[in-house]
Amino acid sequence: MAANRNTVSTQPPIGNIPRPRVLFIDHAGVLGGGQYSLLDIARHFASSCKVLLFADGPFRERLQQYGVSVEVLPAPRKVSGVSRQATLLQDLRAVAGVIHLARSVAKHARDYDLIYANGQKPMVVSAFVARLANKPLIWHLRDTLTVQFESRLHLWLATTLANLFVARVIANSKATAEAFVQSGGRADRVQTVYNGIDAASFRAVTPEQVASARLSLGLGSAPVIGAFGRLAPWKGQHVLLEAMPQLPGVHVLFVGDAIFGEDAYARKLREQAAALGVTDRAHFLGFRQDIPLLMSAVDMVVHTAVEAEPFGRVLVEGMLARKPVVATRGGGTPEIIETGVSGLLVPPSDVKTLVAAIGGLLADPASAQKLAEAGHAVALQRFSLEALLAGVTRQIDDVLARRR
Ligand code: UDP
Repeated sequence: MAANRNTVSTQPPIGNIPRPRVLFIDHAGVLGGGQYSLLDIARHFASSCKVLLFADGPFRERLQQYGVSVEVLPAPRKVSGVSRQATLLQDLRAVAGVIHLARSVAKHARDYDLIYANGQKPMVVSAFVARLANKPLIWHLRDTLTVQFESRLHLWLATTLANLFVARVIANSKATAEAFVQSGGRADRVQTVYNGIDAASFRAVTPEQVASARLSLGLGSAPVIGAFGRLAPWKGQHVLLEAMPQLPGVHVLFVGDAIFGEDAYARKLREQAAALGVTDRAHFLGFRQDIPLLMSAVDMVVHTAVEAEPFGRVLVEGMLARKPVVATRGGGTPEIIETGVSGLLVPPSDVKTLVAAIGGLLADPASAQKLAEAGHAVALQRFSLEALLAGVTRQIDDVLARRR
């Protein structure tokens, strides 16, 4: 539990420059990729920041474990229930709730130098907060703004609010930045800062832990693929399941849960496994906290998103675990993996090519190892936690300097 939930801790100066006081806003109580990334950023600013969440859950607990001041301001149901493809009517019903929430957040914002919205819903609320509290706003954009994901109304709303009220958009990949601009966002407002992953937890995994994890999962010496990520139709776990009958003897660990309400899809995946006769090889492990260990215990990491993955932390994590990574081409994935050099990229929803890529790697462990080692070096060089923190700090400092 953070020592003090309501006040800002005194700021330890770095040289003569006080640390900026940052109010982070996130809508989720659960732990998705955006929340893990914010966890790392907020830890870095722990002495001078607070995180406001619109829902309670394990994310709050994790922030508190790391000594980050955090408070939950539950969003009205009409706001939390708005999906990315919501209708105009659903959006209109949410307006009063957004304004009510913005007023509550604005009271907190007065004690901070800058508001940092982690994701789209927080940005919409924070746009009003920025106006009410007269504070600069950064939007960490972690979604692909395209019609595949968003209603046209949401695309218009997001880019219009950003153009009017957001001082800087931090995009988690060039693809995400481009989608923002193509949807009408101002190109001069957006900067790309790649996600970064802490390599230490991957380095800490021992061979003994790996052997015992494989034993406890009953995997023996069978080839094992790891599919890491929350269960959601666009993450495409169904494509990998579809490939399984053509990969005899290969086990797949599906690690993740339907954390944003995609329970029907989670059920359908299990039904699909039964219909394909692969239930003995398809292991649904649910949400896990021991990702570095599980990634180290598999032979390769496969990510079969069927829509543009904005970034894909799981790709970098697979590389840090020194595993060959096979992913679908789209969104930010080509910025992480150079196919044939640091992993393999395949077209989305193409089972035949996927099977050939996986089968090829299993048949040629030396080439698989070479890809894995090259991927490991790329992850360390280009997607380090240090680089993420330096990039975010630079953007915060720049926004505040321009404001002065
Ligand atoms: N993850 C986890 N437990 C799980 C499944 C996933 O901790 O059971 C983590 C995973 O290690 C990664 C994050 O959730 O750090 C997912 O991030 P990614 O960018 O791949 O996807 P997003 O959730 O942002 O769409």
